[in-house]
Amino acid sequence: MVYSANKNESVQHHHASHPSSRTPNDLPLWIQRQDLSESDLPYIHSLLALSFGDWQELIEGFPWPTGHPFLLIHPDGTKVAKQKSEEAGFFPAAWNEASIGVNAVSEAIRSCRPMLLKAEEHSSPQLRGYDSLAVPIFTRSTGLPCAVLAGLLPSGMAQAGELKLLQAAALHYRSCLYRRFELLFVKDLLQGSESVNKEDHRREILSDVLRRMYDHIDVESVLSEVIDILEQVYPLSRTDLFLSQDYSSSNEKVKPLAFHQQEMDICWKAFMEGEIREETEGPRRRLALPLTGKQGVYGVLLLDVSRSTFDDIDLRFVKMLSEGAGSAFEKAKLHEQANTLIGELRLINELTQRLNSSLKLSDTMQFATSELLSIFKADYCFILQLDRVNGNFIVMSTNVPDMMNELFDRDYGFCGVMLSTKEPIILSDYSSATPVSSQLMDVTNSRSLLAAPLLLNGEVTGAVMVAHTLPNHFSYDNYKLLQVLSAHLGLAVSNSSLHAEVRRMVITDNLTGLFARHYLNERIHRKQLKDAYGSLILVDIDHFKKVNDTFGHQIGDAILIQVSSIIRSAIRDSDIAARWGGEELAIYLPRLTMEQAIRVAERIRLRVEEETSPKVTVSCGLSEWTAADEKISVETLFYRADMALYEAKHQGRNTVAVG
Ligand code: GH3
Ligand code: MG
Ligand code: MG
Repeated sequence: MVYSANKNESVQHHHASHPSSRTPNDLPLWIQRQDLSESDLPYIHSLLALSFGDWQELIEGFPWPTGHPFLLIHPDGTKVAKQKSEEAGFFPAAWNEASIGVNAVSEAIRSCRPMLLKAEEHSSPQLRGYDSLAVPIFTRSTGLPCAVLAGLLPSGMAQAGELKLLQAAALHYRSCLYRRFELLFVKDLLQGSESVNKEDHRREILSDVLRRMYDHIDVESVLSEVIDILEQVYPLSRTDLFLSQDYSSSNEKVKPLAFHQQEMDICWKAFMEGEIREETEGPRRRLALPLTGKQGVYGVLLLDVSRSTFDDIDLRFVKMLSEGAGSAFEKAKLHEQANTLIGELRLINELTQRLNSSLKLSDTMQFATSELLSIFKADYCFILQLDRVNGNFIVMSTNVPDMMNELFDRDYGFCGVMLSTKEPIILSDYSSATPVSSQLMDVTNSRSLLAAPLLLNGEVTGAVMVAHTLPNHFSYDNYKLLQVLSAHLGLAVSNSSLHAEVRRMVITDNLTGLFARHYLNERIHRKQLKDAYGSLILVDIDHFKKVNDTFGHQIGDAILIQVSSIIRSAIRDSDIAARWGGEELAIYLPRLTMEQAIRVAERIRLRVEEETSPKVTVSCGLSEWTAADEKISVETLFYRADMALYEAKHQGRNTVAVG
């Protein structure tokens, strides 16, 4: 353990017990066991001098019999201190130098004993005329000679009594030496504990700020936390934070890393190397600390501090702070990214759920259109479908009513491009030279465009386009999001189309192309809930068994088809014709009275007679319902029509009867 005694000296303390094992009560004893070691000796000059000064103050005014001053000499022979004396010039200049020849000092050091040399015993000519006395001073427990107290008396004055007195003085001085030594030791300890305290304090701040930083889930708060804490701890310093990414922060202390600036040199290095860089200029010290996370360096914290007050503890502190800030920043950034992602996933999830909740194609399209407009803050949205049969793109849904159902050639515009590339498109400005002309863009005066093909099994089935009248409206993230959404939209659209197809198959009779019986029932039921009245016609081919027998079933089928198409062409779009079963057909005529229905039935009867080949006739039974009826069920309506049909057959066929 090395404690610094002062600027240039350090003292090695040998202690009998380890400091950590001490209790507060042990302290004085423990300190008293400390002693100087041989390796400390070269560094104790100032300790000797200071304690000599202490001693001088203590013995001030003490009647020293000889009245002659003393010197304190280090064992290496150098003079450490001199007693204040009126007789300033008393000592020969070089007397303390052991090297000048035999004198009491060199003898005392050599022999480790008190020494008195008479004037005539000196080998050095400068000391002729003096008696010299020297008493070695030994360390208290290790017994090493650590100093010599010496005096010079006019020849003949030094006696054994004077030597004894000097020995006593040496012991007294030694107690002063150890007092200061202990003081020094305690001071070192205090200083040590002070820096431990400072470090503790810094660590407390650090753990506090790190905890807070990690609690923050947004990048902005992490950054201001770092800057705030540095300004709090170092109010006289300047803090700047440079971020590598084009991150726009509301904190004025956060700036982008600009490598062309001169002052950025150490920042640039710190950023590139991921290591602390520093430089000093006069009393200032500039530190560039990289903000490093696991995935890279995000920026640099630049600190401008005072050299005199910023020590190693501070350095460790800011280093740990910047490391903590780096990972907190990274965490917050990842969190933000994850949030965006979660937001997008939630959106996709919601969208797909909504898209798939309605299997009606027009609902799906309409919902998608309004969602896309709001997600991308777009002005316009178009969803187009590719009609495989005639090869056109048709606008299925849009917020531009004029463009609804608009047809485009399959090679035309951006849809044409996407049909061949199967890739989405992002266009920042349509008005600046674009190789593709687009009616949708022209009509809406749009400049920004995002477009994606709708794909099914790798085939383009349609396209989705969102547009904005301002240029550069859509971001690259928008582009990627539309890509994801369009995949779901493509599926939803084809699901809806598929569903529509299945439904069409389910409600349609295969042979005749008329509706199936269950669909007719369902529709009549729904109409009865809404309308005030309606009529039903049952059509039955006369002697159909005979037709089959005569021409065969296939011809029978063809006749059934002929009759069905006559019926279809003889009724309104809102009327519902269905195959009731076998060769019986039914037509429901919403909001037609019996009189009107009779005319329809009569027209059908006549046309069948005229147009079928081989020629057949039909009999028709009619019924009607009004809201005034007591019993207005579908079954009743059919029952009555069936009764009328029976009546028509009974009347000789090829006729219309009412129930
Ligand atoms: P009526 O004038 O009394 O109606 O005599 P009809 O022979 O038509 O008698 P009915 O209506 O009872 O007979 C139905 C016949 O229609 C039985 C069946 O052979 C024939 N038929 C029913 N469905 C089909 C079909 O899908 N195709 C063909 N080819 N024949 C059918
Ligand atoms: Mg029949
Ligand atoms: Mg029949």
